[in-house]
Amino acid sequence: MRTIQSVAEMKAVCREITRGGNTLGFVPTMGALHEGHLSLVRASKAQCRATAVSIFVNPLQFGPTEDLDKYPRMMERDSKLLEELNVDVLFAPTVGEMYPPGATTYVEVADLSGKLDGSSRPGHFRGVATVVAKLFETVRPDRAFFGQKDAAQVAVLRRMVCDLDMDVEIVVCPIVREKDGLAMSSRNAYLNAEQRQQALVLSRALMRVSHEVDLGERDPRRLVEIGTCVIAEEPAARLDYFEIVDPASLQPLSEISRGALVAVAAFIGNARLIDNILLAPR
Ligand code: AMP
Repeated sequence: MRTIQSVAEMKAVCREITRGGNTLGFVPTMGALHEGHLSLVRASKAQCRATAVSIFVNPLQFGPTEDLDKYPRMMERDSKLLEELNVDVLFAPTVGEMYPPGATTYVEVADLSGKLDGSSRPGHFRGVATVVAKLFETVRPDRAFFGQKDAAQVAVLRRMVCDLDMDVEIVVCPIVREKDGLAMSSRNAYLNAEQRQQALVLSRALMRVSHEVDLGERDPRRLVEIGTCVIAEEPAARLDYFEIVDPASLQPLSEISRGALVAVAAFIGNARLIDNILLAPR
């Protein structure tokens, strides 16, 4: 595995790969890798001749009071994991390399960027879209792999790729969970043993809603109420949002349809956790 820090060198190496006719898969991450990330890497390895992974904790997508400074960083361990999976290229630029002084250009996906996580994290999706657009231009992958875990991010990036005529196929992989249902996340590292148990309320609320849909409930307002009540039963959880929306427009639905996105965000202690499911009503 080659590890590269400079944009220029990354461009050169990626062009060399694709010039030879090899398909290039790309997995952007912020590191502190877990099985969720690794599932994306495996999907890329299965679908593409060569795979590039980036590890970059992107300051642009963190708000001023968020966890940028304490976000877990474990480059040596991550690098070993990727090496074991036979990743071809690891791109690990510095902040200065990605955002040289004087940079003033941003990618703003209007409207979508203010929904779900974007509504409680102003500027978050501008940061995400800007860094992913820059990474796409550096890597120019045939396919880029993202997790369904970040459902709003998927909607924003699909819109960006479509609107800016970007030549990359977005592949979305299912949420990888711990055995007890907790969605894997680098931020789970913030939880102590007690909070780790309390965090199960997110997946429990989603399963409850899915169950109610199976039983025939079709009113999104009623379903949101049910999900919100489950979260409220855990006093340690502070709800950010619980919504049922169209997965592409992120607009709240007035009736439940196949593929409706049920998304939740809640704080457990200082950790902001997110989770979601796609409904499949019979
Ligand atoms: P992050 O490092 O948190 O920016 O995540 C990098 C990529 O991994 C994103 O596309 C995430 O959606 C994806 N990802 C994170 N957690 C999971 C998970 N539990 N299952 C599947 N994909 C995930």
